[in-house]
Amino acid sequence: RIAYVNGRYVPHATAGVHVEDRGLQFSDGVYEVIAIAGGRPIDMTGHMERLARSLRELRIAMPMPARPLRMVMREVVRRNRVRNGIVYLQVNRGVYRRDHPFPPAAVPPSLVVTARSGLGPSAAVTEEGVRVVTVPDQRWARRDIKSVALLPNVLAKQAAREAGAYEAWQVDADGAVTEGTSTNAWIVTRDGTLVTRPLGDDILAGITRHTLIALARADGIPVEQRAFTVDEAKAAREAFTSSTTLLALPVVRIDDAVVANGAPGSITRRLRELYHIHMAGAGGE
Ligand code: PLP
Repeated sequence: RIAYVNGRYVPHATAGVHVEDRGLQFSDGVYEVIAIAGGRPIDMTGHMERLARSLRELRIAMPMPARPLRMVMREVVRRNRVRNGIVYLQVNRGVYRRDHPFPPAAVPPSLVVTARSGLGPSAAVTEEGVRVVTVPDQRWARRDIKSVALLPNVLAKQAAREAGAYEAWQVDADGAVTEGTSTNAWIVTRDGTLVTRPLGDDILAGITRHTLIALARADGIPVEQRAFTVDEAKAAREAFTSSTTLLALPVVRIDDAVVANGAPGSITRRLRELYHIHMAGAGGE
C-alpha cells in the first residue's frame, strides 16, 4: 500500500509525520473520508466544499488548489488499486516548534492522503440492522467543523462496542439526539415522515445526509429537519444512521428498546436502494 505525505508517495507501512506535526500535538486539523465505488469517488464536490469550509473556519490554508488535490486523491486510489473503498485526507496546521498559537504564515499545512479497499459493513449487518446506545454528547460547541479532535467520539464508540452495539447516538441536555459518533441520526415517524436534526454548529453537515434528503424528496418521501428525542426515536416506525461508508444503516434497537418490529424498515430500504442508484449514476461527481 502507498500513502501520500507532504508531497511524497511513500510505503504505507512506514509512512509517518514529523513529531512536531500539529495534527499529532494539538489535533489542529481537519479531515474528510470519501467513498470510492466502482473506482469512482462519490459526492466529491460536497466533500471538497466541506473541506474548504472546515479549513476556512479554522484559518488553515488549503494545501493546494482543489484540482491538484483531487489528482493526488485519484493517484492514491490508483496506486492502491481501490475499486470499492475509501480515501482519507487530513490537512493540519503543519510542522513547527510546539507552541499553542498559530505558526508563522509561511509554515505550510500538512497533507496526508491514504486509501483502502473495503466499503461499509457486511451484507448480514445491513440486512439485520444494528443496535445503538445513547450517551451524553460531550463534544465541543463547533461540531460543524470536521476536526480531527475526535476523543469524545472515540470514547462514545468504544462504549457502544463494549455494550455490544454498533454505534452511539449522542444526546444533548434536552434529551434530543444530536448525531452518532461518525454518523447522522434519523427516524421515520408513524405517518412516514423522515426526520433528522437541522444543520447548525451542534452536528456535522453529513454529505450522505445531504444526498439522502435530496433523494428522499425526489422520491416523494416527506422530510422534516428538526430535533427528535430518544423517547421519540424508540417509538418511531423506523430508525437509521448515515455516513459515507454506511449509507443508510438500519437501526433496530435503541438502548434496550426494539424499534417497531425489530427489522429494517421499508423507507430505510428504499433510501439504500436510491443511494445505490445515485452511486451508479451521477454520484461520481
Ligand atoms: N457525524 C459525524 C460526527 C461524523 O464524523 C460523520 C462522518 O464521519 C458523519 C456525521 C457523517 O458524515 P458523512 O455523511 O459526510 O460521512
